[in-house]
Amino acid sequence: MASETNSTNKDPNRENMITTWMPQIGMKFNSTTEAWNFWTFYGGHIGFDVRVNYENKSKTDGVVTSARYVCSNEGYRARDKRDHNTKRPRAETRTGCKVRMGITIDREVGNYEVHELVVEHNHVLQLPGTCHLMPSQRMILSLQAFEIETADDSGIVPKAAHELASRQVGGTTNLGYTRRDHKNYLRTKRHREMMYGEAGTMLKYFQDRKSENPAFQHDIQLDCDEKITNIFWADAKMIIDYAHFGDVVTFDTTFGTNKEYRPFGVFVGFNHFRETVIFGAALLYDETFDSFKWLFNTFLFVHNKKKPRTIFTDQDIAMGKAIQAVFTEAWHGLCNFHIMQNAMKHLPQKKKDEDGPNVLAEFSACMYKYENEEAFEEAFTAIRGKVDTQTWLDSIYKVKEKWARCFMRNAYTLGMRSTQLSESLNSDLKNHLKSDLDILRFFKHLERVVQGKRDNELNEEYESRKKLPRVRIRTPAIIQASKVYTPRIFEDFQNEYERSISAYIKPSEEKNVYNVVIASIDPESMYEEETKVLVDHEEQQVLCSCGQFERVGILCSHALKALDVMNIKYLPSHYILKWWTREARSGTIQDSHGNIVLEDPRMEDRLRLKFFIHKFHGIASKALVSEECSKLVDDALESLSKQVKEKASTNTCRSEAICEEPDSSLQTACLKKKEIQNKNLRRNKSWIEKQRPNKKRKKKAEFVPENQFCSRGEKDMSAAQQQGNTEQPAGINENSLQEYGWMTRLLMGQDDDNLDLQNYMNFPRI
Ligand SMILES: [Zn+2]
Ligand SMILES: [Zn+2]
Repeated sequence: MASETNSTNKDPNRENMITTWMPQIGMKFNSTTEAWNFWTFYGGHIGFDVRVNYENKSKTDGVVTSARYVCSNEGYRARDKRDHNTKRPRAETRTGCKVRMGITIDREVGNYEVHELVVEHNHVLQLPGTCHLMPSQRMILSLQAFEIETADDSGIVPKAAHELASRQVGGTTNLGYTRRDHKNYLRTKRHREMMYGEAGTMLKYFQDRKSENPAFQHDIQLDCDEKITNIFWADAKMIIDYAHFGDVVTFDTTFGTNKEYRPFGVFVGFNHFRETVIFGAALLYDETFDSFKWLFNTFLFVHNKKKPRTIFTDQDIAMGKAIQAVFTEAWHGLCNFHIMQNAMKHLPQKKKDEDGPNVLAEFSACMYKYENEEAFEEAFTAIRGKVDTQTWLDSIYKVKEKWARCFMRNAYTLGMRSTQLSESLNSDLKNHLKSDLDILRFFKHLERVVQGKRDNELNEEYESRKKLPRVRIRTPAIIQASKVYTPRIFEDFQNEYERSISAYIKPSEEKNVYNVVIASIDPESMYEEETKVLVDHEEQQVLCSCGQFERVGILCSHALKALDVMNIKYLPSHYILKWWTREARSGTIQDSHGNIVLEDPRMEDRLRLKFFIHKFHGIASKALVSEECSKLVDDALESLSKQVKEKASTNTCRSEAICEEPDSSLQTACLKKKEIQNKNLRRNKSWIEKQRPNKKRKKKAEFVPENQFCSRGEKDMSAAQQQGNTEQPAGINENSLQEYGWMTRLLMGQDDDNLDLQNYMNFPRI
């Protein structure tokens, strides 16, 4: 303690500080808590651990009348009766140290006074560098608890989170808790969270989300025993996104994402940057017509009854029927990716060096190439002639309107042709996902994945504001388009515009009709297919027979040529689809009760907190230069904290919210458990766990927009062949395997190689 004395002599402020933390006879405290905190602080400063020796309570009113706080080395450990049996007895820690501080109440004033004090220890004290390890000095403050929870929700492992927290305060000695405390805190927190059971925890999660933002929506379906079967939820951003971009939706289910092994369904679409947006998610009990019907109806209700114009799904009979029943006016398309996947299974595949027909390529052409129905029918009949078993061809022909290009002419798809958006989301969800994830972890993980998608949009938004679009042709229409469209859409538009320069107008007998052909760059053919553009000079209308604007929302080269011939040099506003513009998100969104939906009503609070933290941090760093400054800050904070406490009536600290009394309605909630289906192994838990591959997938699914041109022609089929021969997991037959989504199969170790499949995904130009 010599150094302390020295510094006292030099600095009068220091003297003040020491007297405030040194116990003295006659010292007064307002409460026992205050006295105890003082003693703990003193122990931490000197280097000894503390303990309560006793607290005497009055029998009449329960008030503590006297108390004694001691050094933890006080007394001796009682003799262990099993002593002779214990192989590795706990280390002796008690030395009979006499250090103590006794307080008694002054009934008249209502405070406590130190009447007994011993400060001489009979043992070594801890060093300043080891003090923080004493239990009395280890404490997780509420702000730290918040940070621990936030790190956990962000998927940061305790070790890294603890390391980060220590660095922020300049080392583990300043942190106030050890890595083990960190882990223990999380363990108790999880335990506390699950006190409602799985179903209750889920409902609690929904309640919490709703209290954060009242626009959050969820719905559950109960069976006759009041057990939860189906669950749907959508947050404020999803509701906003759907209001802006909900005309074209893909819906897909997958499973193995949650411990319950319920099918997880997600509604997905894209925004003005063609980035994924999420409209809602569901955990289903099963994949029956009734479940889907409930889900789709709930989806509509949550989204203010706005129906999608187009919906893409995987080929599933129950789902298809439910779509027909609920989305009565929507055009239902089948995911081309899934169909191609099945085609590879059911149609003969050509080997690499083999001559003969390439049936798969022909099928792919039926899907993407033919623009008129006769050509499609002819090509399809030709395929039939080359295939022995027709069962699959028959079944896919029955739904040709849902996947063949010639029938999709009037479908408002905006370039979407598959459910790959949702599949890529599902794959993100499965990355780093553990099979034993409880329902709350699953939700948190989903939140992170969804946030990742939202961040993508923010990045696009940032880039679009920072970088000027690359204008290749300086014409009024192009300059105009570069200003209104998002960069990606402008790029598409500019390509169309460029093509329109190569367009011819052929003479036509009909009035107000232009026959347009585009001169081909390909030396083998002179022109591309001819289209008819119906024009109206007065209304500045150009209606092209290729139907691109009606389908994708971007004018085609034919229509652009017609506009040019009509001497219209600017894009008429009715040909600028709001969806594709930089202003796509303008306007407010109302929920079903007419309230405006805010994406983050607490944004202001968060910004303010950030501001305060920066400000405090700045002051604190500056205050370190002298004891005087430090004291000034300390006193000011002390008085400030008292004032704030008086003014603030309620405290909505997050970690405190968890400690609320258990809600009985949450405790009685119950998820309907799945029964083991012997006949169908689709949802067999142990099997999935066994099949979960450890290796990383080779290629990630990517969304291929319709307008992305892929080269056609002879493709390497050997990999496809191998894919067909891939060994199947034991106990699974071809048929049941087929029912899985390709992503699911992929994740289960069925090494579908997307690359080869992509070869057949011949997306033509729009
Ligand atoms: Zn001691
Ligand atoms: Zn056209």
